[in-house]
Amino acid sequence: MQEEWLQQMENQVNTLEKLKKYIRVSEAETLALRTLKSKWGTTPYFASLMDPEDPSCPIRRQVLPSMEEQVNRYGMENYLMWKENRDTEEIRPDSIARQYRDRVAFTVTEVCGIYCRHCFRKELVVEQDLQLRFDVEEGLNWIAANPEIRDVLVTGGDPLLMSDDQLADLIGRLRSIGHIEMIRIGSRLPIVLPQRITEGLKKAIGGFHKVPVWINTQCNHPKELTAETERAVYELMSCGINVGNQAVLLKGINDDTETFRALHQKLLRVRIRPYYLFYCEPAPGIDHFRTPVEKGAELIRDGLRGHTTGLAQPMYVLATNIGKIPLMPDYSIVDKNEREYTLRNHKGQTTRIPNIPE
Ligand SMILES: *Cc1c(COP(=O)(O)O)cnc(C)c1O
Ligand code: SF4
Repeated sequence: MQEEWLQQMENQVNTLEKLKKYIRVSEAETLALRTLKSKWGTTPYFASLMDPEDPSCPIRRQVLPSMEEQVNRYGMENYLMWKENRDTEEIRPDSIARQYRDRVAFTVTEVCGIYCRHCFRKELVVEQDLQLRFDVEEGLNWIAANPEIRDVLVTGGDPLLMSDDQLADLIGRLRSIGHIEMIRIGSRLPIVLPQRITEGLKKAIGGFHKVPVWINTQCNHPKELTAETERAVYELMSCGINVGNQAVLLKGINDDTETFRALHQKLLRVRIRPYYLFYCEPAPGIDHFRTPVEKGAELIRDGLRGHTTGLAQPMYVLATNIGKIPLMPDYSIVDKNEREYTLRNHKGQTTRIPNIPE
């Protein structure tokens, strides 16, 4: 019999008719679904987490197109070309995006388990206006020929949608390149299709090896974390794969202190370590998800730092064409003079420590 995750992919919820089995579709949602040409869809599992009555449900907003996607006041034209640094002098295959000396992002597929409305790679994975050639063979050859690369971030689309055999081959070949020290896989499947974490997948990418595999997933709201996710993450860890989270800061979804704190606490409860909080990038058609830049640092200041477990703290970053720029809450150093620093904590209390000259 076909594995459950493949059945989930075959039965993607991607038409109005299918959607109606899960929710009472609002007028605004119906209009957007009928008008916009944009690709959309989700797994039946993730659709079942939608609130049937509430159009502002965080899962509905991430999955269902909105007429607001036609507004584009702040989005940058040709965003991905700029962001992925593609028009530089170095000649690289389309599958390799490079911003750093020792690591690259390696795109191996354009297919996803859900087509997130806030995706910054929308031009590529959702609208498919940007035509790039993702040739895995060509990418592997380039990596093998560039000995300064020690860390490869396998991305997409969603790499875990490849078959067990394809993944075993890809990971095996990366591991056989002498200068590769670690492999990271970016995948939303532990959240949107936890059924993908099968014994076959564990065999394909897990197990003890000197080149470890890390997975970073994307979870943006506590509602996305279920008993199925918890089990999937545990299975991954049981074969040596650590799981981190890269949340996206989304207006009306996770930009209030309570939701933001609940998300990060619940991630730890299911053994996912918060890694990054991304500012919602200035890609076209996603203005309605974007907050002011400072918002992410304020949420960490008001919701996490000092208020809850240190392990729950992600680093807030702005992803740009010149790399990720971290942005910290700015309250900690209140004053500095030749003798001392004055420091403030999360409760507003201050303290002093000596300033040591060089
Ligand atoms: C995000 C990214 C990386 C990885 O960055 P880390 O800070 O190491 O997680 C590497 N290359 C590219 C092109 C990226 O966008
Ligand atoms: S799973 Fe990732 S690549 Fe795919 S649509 Fe969502 S954010 Fe974009």
